[in-house]
Amino acid sequence: MHETTSDRDDDGPPGGALARARALLDEARRVLVLTGAGVSAASGMPTFRGEDGLWKDRRPEELATPEAFARDPRAVWEWYGWRRRMARECDPNPAHLWIARWCVSHPDVTLVTQNVDSLHRRALESVAPDAAAVERASPVELHGDLFRVRCAGCGRRAPHEAEVDATSRETLPRCQRCGELLRPDVVWFGESLEAEMLEAAFAAAERAEACLVVGTSAVVQPAASLATTAAGAGAAVVEINPETTPASRVAEVSLRADAARAVPALLRPLLEGDGGSGGSGAEGA
Ligand code: NAD
Ligand code: ZN
Repeated sequence: MHETTSDRDDDGPPGGALARARALLDEARRVLVLTGAGVSAASGMPTFRGEDGLWKDRRPEELATPEAFARDPRAVWEWYGWRRRMARECDPNPAHLWIARWCVSHPDVTLVTQNVDSLHRRALESVAPDAAAVERASPVELHGDLFRVRCAGCGRRAPHEAEVDATSRETLPRCQRCGELLRPDVVWFGESLEAEMLEAAFAAAERAEACLVVGTSAVVQPAASLATTAAGAGAAVVEINPETTPASRVAEVSLRADAARAVPALLRPLLEGDGGSGGSGAEGA
C-alpha cells in the first residue's frame, strides 16, 4: 500500500509514487495541507533541527520561552530581529506559490502551518486576485507570526513590521494602551496553542479526504497529531519530506524530495488540468 519515491522520480512515469499521490489528491474534495519548516528550507529559512538553526550557539529552547522573555527580553528581541531579517530576505518558493494557488482556486483546501515566517501569506498575496481572496484562503498559523506582536501585559495583538531596536531594554517596543513590553506573537515552548486555531485545524483534519504533509518533522505536538487524526478519519495521507518521520507511518505515499521541487510537480498538473484560477505568474517552477 505504502509507496515511497526519491527526488529523481519527480518526473517519473505515470503509475509511480508521484502519479499515485496526484491521483489521491485529485480524488479528494476536502484537503488538509500541513506544513513545517522544511517547506521554507529552499527559500533559505533554516529549520530548527537543521545545522543552521542555531543563533550565537544558543538553542531555540533557550530563547523561545516566556521565562527567557521575563529574564532577558532584549536578548529575545535580538534573536527575533535576526529571524525577521532572515524572513524578509527570503522569498516564497514554488512550494509556497503552488499551495497558495491551490488554496485560492479550491475553497475546500485548508492550509495549516507551523511556520511563523509569513512566506505562505506572502505567496498568497502574490497569487490571489484580491484582498477578499487572500482573506478566504488564509492559512491557519498554529504557532503565530514573526511579524505580529502581543502585549505581555494586556494581551492586545497587532501587526508589527517595524525594525525593533534591541540595543537596550529601554528601546524595546511597548504597548500604547498599558505601557507593558510587546513580545513576538508566536507560541513559545511551554505555552498552549490558541483554542480557536486548534479547533479549526482539527476540524479540517477530521473532515479531510486527503492530507498533504510537507516539510515537518512531525514531532511537535499537537500539530504532529493532525496527520494521524486525518488518517484515522479516513483521509489518504501524502507526505513530502527528504527524511522519514512519524507521519510516514500513516502516509499512503511518501515523496522523499525537496518541497520546492515536489509540490509543483504534484500540484501543477492538478491545477492546470482543471483550468482553475491558479494565478497567472510564470514563477511557479
Ligand atoms: P523541524 O525543523 O522540526 O523539521 C523540519 C522538517 O523539514 C524535517 O523533517 C526535514 O527533514 C524537513 N525538510 C528539510 N528540508 C526540506 C525540504 N527542502 N523539503 C521538504 N522538507 C524538508 O520543523 P517543524 O516540524 O516545522 O517544527 C519546528 C518548529 O519550529 C515549528 O513549531 C515551527 O514553528 C518552528 N520553526 C519555524 C520556522 C519557519 O517559520 N520557517 C523555522 C524553524 C522553526
Ligand atoms: Zn498592553
